[in-house]
Order: sequence, then structure tokens, then C-alpha cells
Amino acid sequence: MTSAIESIKAKVDIADEIGLAVALQRAGKSLKGLCPFHNERTSSFYVFRETQTWHCFGCNEGGDIFSFVQKHQSLDFREALLYLAEKAGVSVEEHGERTEEDREISVARERLLKLNEEALLWFHQMLLRSKDATQARAYVQERGISTDTVVAFGLGCASEQWDGLSLYLLGRGYTEHELVSGGLARWRESESQERMRNGIYDYFRQRLIFPIRDIRGRVIGFGGRALGDGKPKYLNSPQTLLFEKNTVLYAIDMAKDAIKQIGQVVIVEGYVDALIAHQYGTKQTVACIGSAITEKHIQQLKKLTKQVTLALDPDAAGSAATEQGIQEALKGFDRTVLPVPLAASKMEGTGRSQSGPGGQFRKSGQQQPRGIIRLEEQVDAEINVLQLPPGEDPDEVIRRDLSTWLYAVAHPLPLMDYYFVVKTADLNLREPSGQTEAAKRLLPVIRTVSDRIKRDAYIRKLASMISIDERTLYDTLQRLPRDQKTAGVTADFTGKTSGRQDARMQARERDEANRTIGGVAEENDQGQMSQVDALSHQDFGLDKHKTNAIKWEDYLIGLLLQNPGLSQHVCGIINDSDFAGTDTRELYRILNSVYQRDVSPTLQSFEQFVPSALLPAVARAIRNVESKSPQDGAKLVKEAEQCATRLKRNRILQLNTELQYLIREAANAGDKALEKQLRQQVFENEKLLRTIYTSTHLQG
Ligand SMILES: [Zn+2]
Repeated sequence: MTSAIESIKAKVDIADEIGLAVALQRAGKSLKGLCPFHNERTSSFYVFRETQTWHCFGCNEGGDIFSFVQKHQSLDFREALLYLAEKAGVSVEEHGERTEEDREISVARERLLKLNEEALLWFHQMLLRSKDATQARAYVQERGISTDTVVAFGLGCASEQWDGLSLYLLGRGYTEHELVSGGLARWRESESQERMRNGIYDYFRQRLIFPIRDIRGRVIGFGGRALGDGKPKYLNSPQTLLFEKNTVLYAIDMAKDAIKQIGQVVIVEGYVDALIAHQYGTKQTVACIGSAITEKHIQQLKKLTKQVTLALDPDAAGSAATEQGIQEALKGFDRTVLPVPLAASKMEGTGRSQSGPGGQFRKSGQQQPRGIIRLEEQVDAEINVLQLPPGEDPDEVIRRDLSTWLYAVAHPLPLMDYYFVVKTADLNLREPSGQTEAAKRLLPVIRTVSDRIKRDAYIRKLASMISIDERTLYDTLQRLPRDQKTAGVTADFTGKTSGRQDARMQARERDEANRTIGGVAEENDQGQMSQVDALSHQDFGLDKHKTNAIKWEDYLIGLLLQNPGLSQHVCGIINDSDFAGTDTRELYRILNSVYQRDVSPTLQSFEQFVPSALLPAVARAIRNVESKSPQDGAKLVKEAEQCATRLKRNRILQLNTELQYLIREAANAGDKALEKQLRQQVFENEKLLRTIYTSTHLQG
């Protein structure tokens, strides 16, 4: 297999292949163009002929020719291999991949695909023309499904007849066996002898039919919604050569382009939800057939996007089924390896290792003796939860109030934030019993986060939410049995020591700040690390700035809520994208728009625009400023401005952190032009930071 891949790579140049999809221009040793994976007007997408790799520093995607083909054409590896093998004139089968049996199965699959196409036509014609389909057409109308949607998705109808479809297909030359194994008919058992087969009858009867296609648009099965009181209410194709219930995503073929373009997939629970979402323009929507989201669903989706938005039934939120779905979703995403810097080796005394191209990104397992960079797993996905008014299905919300739906789709709640809201909704967090219960419920969930930095952030969030010493939470987390699910956690939350906690946190922060990133540290053009450069190196952990920022974000939002007039003083410094927290970012956006409409808004007038999911963030922000003593106007303005400046600074530091990765990569790839360009960006950021420092005299 490896040799087939190598010979394909040797024969098909990555620039030629990508050049088919992207207009590439020469840029130094590399080629650049507009990234096909995110919307952009200036080129951030680079192809490196020397290393036969590509990288986009706009959206941080990259890889080799296979990953490009897979991602661009939404193919799995095997499909991409076949595609490229044909192009290279390399025979993949030569390498002993396929047996006679494989070949037979492949023929049977092709035949079944044709059979399904024929069945689809029959169902579809029934729905459009048959007088037996009156009830089905009425149902379609009642659910608000347009004729265009009916045609685009090929909806159909199975009548009450026992053998309408079977007779039609037998007449087209298919056998009874093919119909049964294809999931379109069942054997009719003889009444006298149970095991005797006595012809066949239709699998779907008196149902509205939803053809289910794979990502390439081929019909692999059907879903049938009972018209009237038929049981079960929804009947899907049985397992066949093509149809595997736990992998199917309804409407994936219609949604894939939008998912890639928008960078988000919305997962709903029902066929009609998906249809209506598409009909009203949310074309990045798919439906999950069956009850749970499985790892296999996610495997398909992650080729298209890493932003997964679950439209969960709000009533079921927090239920075991939902939680299981979420756990599966989390598990499904590959834990991709990201280079994570180690603290400089003690042997290197000064705290700075030698700079230059010595530090390589190594594959895990190839442990470097001095560990300049080690690779650590990180869940490579952002899972959000879409919040809808309680008791309503997505299709109802869309038809009744499209703007609510669109807002929810554009502002989903990060999964863990969602957990924090849902799991503590019924608790009084000011009471010790409520605090203990909150920890009991949330710690097992936090524990499932494999990324340590993120996990720490959630621990801190929980600690501040329930005013409990972080250390106590860590201890409890350690004590959780390995397979602890949700219940039965015993935790002792007495003895709060917030003073000690503060001291410890400060010590830790100092510690982290003193850490230097060996190997990744780069000298700038002047041959010296600037103050800013040094700062950006202190915090290579990706979420560090974020955690830090969120404290300030809460405080700033709190200040603005209590003194709306402050908005005008900070809007020149920051915009909503400077917020790292989803909730604070959204609150800031709402605050600004309310302030623009109403010169002196009250907290009440503001709260009516806040989605209920954000109310805890409002409470948190207000708590944050309440404890401070009241200040005079001028002091408040200064405080708000300083706060906004900190946010801006954090954001830029975060950007520089990411740029350092890319500089390293460009250096490794020998791409001076890109490296320079990236350095230029770092330089611009530094300039901006200096301006910020001098204009505000902010103490770092
Ligand atoms: Zn991109």
C-alpha cells in the first residue's frame, strides 16, 4: 500500500493537482492562491512543491496531496487513493487489495444502487401523480414542504397496496431475492408452513418516503414516515450492502458544499427538520437517522468541517441519550497531534534554547532526547449546541420565526458552556448544597476533556462559579474512579481557602510566565527578542490567553452593564471579535446594538435582547463588578479603557502565538518568502502592541 501511495506522489505533482481547483501563482519557492476551504480575498493558501505539501495560514488547514483531494472532493482515503491512482496510472489492485469476493460484492452494490434509483422514481411518481397519494400530499403541505423541496429531495410515497413496488421492480427484471436483500420487500411466509416462502410484499406501505443518499448523491436507502396511525412512525431501510443505519446522515449530499463553505454543520433529528432547514436557506443541515450520533457520523463530517452544531431537543437536554450522543461526538473526532512546547530543559540554563531551525516537529513516538517540542493530543473539533425555544422542533421554529432560528444557528453555545448551563439550571449556587451538587454533576463531564489546558480552564470556571478552591476540585477530580459516569461522586467542599488559592494561582502564573519555549523561540530581524516577542513566547499553550482574557471580559461586560455610557469609550479600542469567550462576545455585541438604539438603556431593556442561554453570563459579569467599591466617572472610564486594552492585547498575543507555528513551518519548508511575510505580520502586531502600551501606559 505504501508503495502505491509513494508512486502516486512521485507521479502526480501536488501543484498540478491543486492547480486544477485553485488558481495558483508563483510566490518565491512556493505557489499561492485563494484558499478553497475558507472565504478570502487575499491569498493565504500556499503550496510547497519541494515538500509536496500545502498550508493555509488563513484557516490553518494543510497536508499533502491526499489530504487535499480528500478534503476538496469530500472523499475518504480509499476513494482519494482510487482517484489519484487512476490519474497516476498506478494500479492499486496490483498490490493485492481486492479479492474475487470483493469484486462480487462490488457488482452487487452497483446493481443495488440501480434498483434503488428505480424504486425512487416509482415512489416519486406516486407522490406527484397518484390518486392514492392524496393523504401523503396533504401531509407534505401541512408540514410546509414546498414543491421545489419535494422535487429536489425526491420525496415519494408508498401506497397502501401490498405489492405495487414489488410488481413494478419484478417487471423491470429484478429478482425477488434482490428486492428482499435490497430492503425493498419482505418474504411472505406461508400460513401453513412457517418457514416456507410464498412470494414477497412491499417493505414500505402507506408512508411518505424520504430517499437517503450518500455524500455522492447515490440512493442507498429510504426512510418512511407513516401516514395515519401506522407503526412504527418512522421506518428505515433494513441493513443492506449499501445501508448502514448508524452511519447515515440524511441530506449530506445536499449539504456538503454549504458545510464546507460556511464551515459548520447543523445536525437535526428529523427528516422534515432537515428539509425545512434547507428550504429556508440553512443548507449546512443534515439529519441523524436513528437516535444517537455515532462515531461513524462524525468520521464523515469531520472531512467537511470541525464545527459541529447539534440541534438537540431541548426537553431531552441532559438526558442520558443526549449525553451519550455528545460523548460519541467528542470521541469521534480524531485527536490530532499538535506541537506543544515543553518548558526549556534545565540543562539549558538561560531558559532559552538555541534558536534556529534545529527544533523539528517530530511525530509522537520519536521522542527527542532533549524534548524541544512534544506532541500532545488535542480534540480537534468545536462542538456547539443550538438552543431553541423549549418544546419546539427546528422545523416549527424555522417556519414560525426564521430570525430566531438563524440567530441560534449563528450563535450556538459551546458544548461545555452548554453543560454548565444545563447541569446547574435547577441549583442555587449561593448555597453550599447547590455548590456541592454542581461540582458533583460537572466534574465527571470536565474529566472527559482530554486537553489538559481546556480541562484546567473548565476547572477554573467551575471553581469561580461555585466559589470553591480550585485545588479542592483538582483533588476530587483525581479521586474520581476511572469509569465514573455521572452519579455518586463524593466530594468534600468545606474549607474554602480563597486567599491561599489566589496566592497559588499567582505563583502558577509566574511560573508559566518564566517558562521559555525552547526551539520555537526565534530571534527577530534585529537579532533580539523584543518584549512583545518574549511575551508571545511565554504562553505557547493555545488557550492560555483565552483563559486569561475571559476574566477581563467578564469584568468589562459587568462595567458596561452597570454603566452603559462607557460603551462609547471602549468601542474605539475593541470590537466583538476581540472577545475570546463566546458568551461575552455576544453580550458585547448586543450591548453595542442596544446602546446604538437607546441612549440611556437600563439593564432591563438590555436583558430583553439577551437569549436565555446568556443570562448566566450576565449574572456572572455583574457579580464580577458588584464587589468593587463605587468609583467616580473619570476613574470608571479609565478602568473600562484599560480593560478593553487588555482584551486587545490578549487577542494580538494569541495571534502571534499562532503565527510562530507558521513561521517555524515556513522555516522548515525553506520558504523564506512566507516566513518573511509571517514575520511581517508578527512585526505589525508588535507595532500595534507598542502603540497600545504607550497610549495607555498599561503595565504588562
Ligand atoms: Zn484557508
